[in-house]
Amino acid sequence: MRICVVSYHSSPLTPVGSGKSGGMSIVIRSLYERLARVSEVDIFVRGEGRTREISPRLRLVQVQEDDTGRFAEEIINRHDVGQYDLMHTHYWSSGIVGLHARRVMKIPWLHTMHTVEVLKTIRRDQTRIEIEEEIMRACDLVVSPTEQESLAIRALYPDVRVMTIPHGVDTRRFEPSRNGHKDILFVGRVDPIKGIHFLIDALRQVRGDVGLTLVGGPSKGAGNLAGIETYAAGVPVEFVGQVKHDELAQYYSNTAMLVVPSHYESFGLVGLEAMASGRPVVGFDHTGLKETVGDDAGILVKMGVRSLARAIETLSRKHELRHVMGSNGRKKAMAYDWTIIAQRYQRLYERVSKE
Ligand code: UDP
Repeated sequence: MRICVVSYHSSPLTPVGSGKSGGMSIVIRSLYERLARVSEVDIFVRGEGRTREISPRLRLVQVQEDDTGRFAEEIINRHDVGQYDLMHTHYWSSGIVGLHARRVMKIPWLHTMHTVEVLKTIRRDQTRIEIEEEIMRACDLVVSPTEQESLAIRALYPDVRVMTIPHGVDTRRFEPSRNGHKDILFVGRVDPIKGIHFLIDALRQVRGDVGLTLVGGPSKGAGNLAGIETYAAGVPVEFVGQVKHDELAQYYSNTAMLVVPSHYESFGLVGLEAMASGRPVVGFDHTGLKETVGDDAGILVKMGVRSLARAIETLSRKHELRHVMGSNGRKKAMAYDWTIIAQRYQRLYERVSKE
């Protein structure tokens, strides 16, 4: 099978955890590395106009073009030469490329939103909402990582075809270890949507000597990070900055729990990484964590500072509960190993390309 992947927003090879590069890069890298064992995969990104072989059968096609229409032309030219069986676009900007390509390329088109603008709880952009609707209606299938997101999309746009395949985790990179720690961990891009202010406020209310290790760089400029540093004055926070994904496992091992205070989280890969590492997860119950963490691999609460503080305090006091929830998390994470998730995509791609 020949698969055309569009990642216009960012290259999956850019280090993740700051700027524009986050969970989507990990998803694209992890998924297509595995699918390329049996298929030819071209990932289209913006860049210097060169094609790089990442591994056998997996290529990064760097298109020297910011205009989405002309970017799509490059895809169409390649399709003319070596016919793709399907196209999978990731994120709304790639979806715009998909809209252009679709006019000419009559192959199945799958789209993953990664963030659904209309479902965000803060900072919604009306133009983007309309474009995302157009993309969802034009593509053949939307692939969403959670049932709750699929249901929400179906409720808003009943004609759109959606199916759920969760994201995965590398259960060999993230492995359990003894949890005798007391400090808590945040991992993610420093962006208002990640709710770090909530976490700082919650920590002010937590009784006991609990410190926070904050891993991740700013998503846009350094302003957000500097703002958080000022806001956190007097609270024991260690700002580690961006950490290479390959070196992240030790941070999960050295923490009592992961806290994900996001206002909106379509899936929350960090939750799965903590689970695979045998660490409980604290977060909000309206986020994608509901389907991975559930009620036995951490504590998910209604959004609020007090509830967040209480959950952190409960888990930091109860070592045994941390242990039980951590090992539940590990067991559940095994079902999300990327090898299993990639097989589900393989079956889906085969089915869709025959339709
Ligand atoms: N991450 C990383 N280094 C960092 C911060 C984050 O490797 O310094 C990774 C993290 O391990 C996770 C991804 O970035 O795999 C973040 O994905 P998530 O779904 O949690 O959030 P998103 O970036 O998609 O909003």
